[in-house]
Amino acid sequence: MTMNTLPPFRTGKSRLEQGYIQPIDGIEIPFGIIEGSEPGPCLLVTAGVHGSEYCSIETAVRLLKKKPEEIKGTLVVLPILNRQGFRKRSIYIMPEDGKNLNRMFPGKPDGSTSERLANWLVTEVYPQADAYLDLHGGDLDESLAPFTIFPKDCEKSKALATAFGIPVVIAAGGEGYTVNAANKVGVPSILPEVSGNGLWGEETVSEMMTGVERVMHSLGMISGPVKPAPQKVPQYVTMWVPSAPSDGLWYPAKEISDFVAVGDVLGEIKDVFGKVLATVRSEKEGFILYRLTSLAVNQGEALLGVGTPLAS
Ligand SMILES: [Zn+2]
Repeated sequence: MTMNTLPPFRTGKSRLEQGYIQPIDGIEIPFGIIEGSEPGPCLLVTAGVHGSEYCSIETAVRLLKKKPEEIKGTLVVLPILNRQGFRKRSIYIMPEDGKNLNRMFPGKPDGSTSERLANWLVTEVYPQADAYLDLHGGDLDESLAPFTIFPKDCEKSKALATAFGIPVVIAAGGEGYTVNAANKVGVPSILPEVSGNGLWGEETVSEMMTGVERVMHSLGMISGPVKPAPQKVPQYVTMWVPSAPSDGLWYPAKEISDFVAVGDVLGEIKDVFGKVLATVRSEKEGFILYRLTSLAVNQGEALLGVGTPLAS
């Protein structure tokens, strides 16, 4: 039997519940709830908002194997939110409506599929959590060096990002995102990104898993020891993302982590005969956080991210 709502997150009894729920018509998603016998915080972990970011999905799948006796409080895992996107190996979008779920928050109860799924998360799921991790990575067409995004101006989210332990942490503004919407309903939230091009090697999966465990340790949900972060204080940055001025073939000029100055050429978009249609220059000084690796590019798509260190 498929339920429409998740079982309660807190019962005060040690338990493991797994299955599928149908929160809205036509959408069936897997879930796991692992509650320890001792009280503690409730940590929500989602993955597969983008269905082809496999490192994050595999990390969440492994989290489903945690045992009640290992934790205090409750761990709630939704490992593949965009299940059709996972099946169809979609990039960015939910196949049901062609929209990027991570731009649709807080959603609408009577909207399209992604808007309704976002609305369900914001109204039914997020408010029950004490902290939230939405796991991502570079999609099939993106490479990146790991970083964690948090909603700027939220100190509790910043503390979670620091605890996760990735050396680069992005203070992000903007609307429409999972973690921004969760933060607005009072839940400290971060969005870690590890691995790119859909790759899910053991090293990157364990890097992401270690980050989740560091957060669980910092919340008092697991006892140590956990592998310490490579640095005590990460580098806090803001991110600038130029979008493609035209369709065409994308020839990036910088590699991941390369330094860039204002005015540096970041790449060119050419037509098939080699005519330069657009030269993309940096408006910021900083370093390359991620970039599009596909040769094909469409107008309006994000080309890359430049991280600019914040004065500390
Ligand atoms: Zn993503």
